[in-house]
Amino acid sequence: MELRKDPITRSWVVVGQREREVDRAEPCPLCPHNRLETHVLLELPPQGRWQVRAYPHLRPSYHIEGDTGRSADGIFDRMDAVGAHEIIVETPDHSRTFTQFTDEEIERVLEAYALRIADLKRDPRFKYVAVFKNQGPQAGEEWPHTHSQVSATTFVPRRILYELRSAREWYRERDRCVFCDILRQEVRQKKRIVDSVGDYYAFCPYASRVPFETWLIPRTHAHQFEAPSPGENRRHLAALLGRTLRRLLQISSSYHMVLHTAPNTLQTKGELSDYWATIAGDYHWHIEILPIVETRSKSYSIKEVYFNGTLPEHAAERLRQLDPEK
Ligand SMILES: [Zn+2]
Ligand SMILES: [Zn+2]
Ligand SMILES: [Zn+2]
Repeated sequence: MELRKDPITRSWVVVGQREREVDRAEPCPLCPHNRLETHVLLELPPQGRWQVRAYPHLRPSYHIEGDTGRSADGIFDRMDAVGAHEIIVETPDHSRTFTQFTDEEIERVLEAYALRIADLKRDPRFKYVAVFKNQGPQAGEEWPHTHSQVSATTFVPRRILYELRSAREWYRERDRCVFCDILRQEVRQKKRIVDSVGDYYAFCPYASRVPFETWLIPRTHAHQFEAPSPGENRRHLAALLGRTLRRLLQISSSYHMVLHTAPNTLQTKGELSDYWATIAGDYHWHIEILPIVETRSKSYSIKEVYFNGTLPEHAAERLRQLDPEK
């Protein structure tokens, strides 16, 4: 596999075949007794019976060893698919679902996200660490055993790059964070707010790409999810995430969830270097949840324009009315 850059959109594309397809008839490889216990990267809690465990992905999209081998191919740019691709198994119990977790259990999963991001960011080759979760067969879930994925890449994924560019521009023009500005207005207008716990808010974004798109964001400005600010209470975020997903589950059983945090600022050269000057002020971490309500829209990434048949104001109102404990 290799990475190729589209010189027009400046997006990197992973090209090539993954090693082998998932055989759903095989015993679940995420269950503790079916998995070789070598390569464990993280276990939480660190002592006693583990709840959350991270290890390298069984069919990685990227390989951890080696240099990027970035080179020119005529006018084009290419790199070897160097990176990290990990799985976070959220419970040893095959039949438990994320929405059945206690707040404490969800908090432990969030803790694992933070620890893996912080660890992978120590590698200066990686420009970005993404955490995401594909829940349900319509979201391209690989195994039904509840899990998340972590990928560390030598490039910044396209959508994050768009966010970083816009956030930086907003900050330069107004000296304020665009995400803080958005949330302030949402809290004032109340039309698209779904819920809040402590400092954290859930809302349907103004230009939602899909019906019931929901974001979770802290009100206090912070650019790095993995480096909590003093006084931050992740249990509140866990509670809000559980409540939000339990609401969304009453609308759709499949969703994509992605955590957007700041890029790796260890990098000293390259296209991102000039972003660091204001990154701590201009970027604001958040979680995006994209439920799959319409079966037609299998892949969001290939769409050129989003057509969303549900007004975010109506989506938020509907979600507010749903029981977050159900
Ligand atoms: Zn399993
Ligand atoms: Zn902010
Ligand atoms: Zn985002």
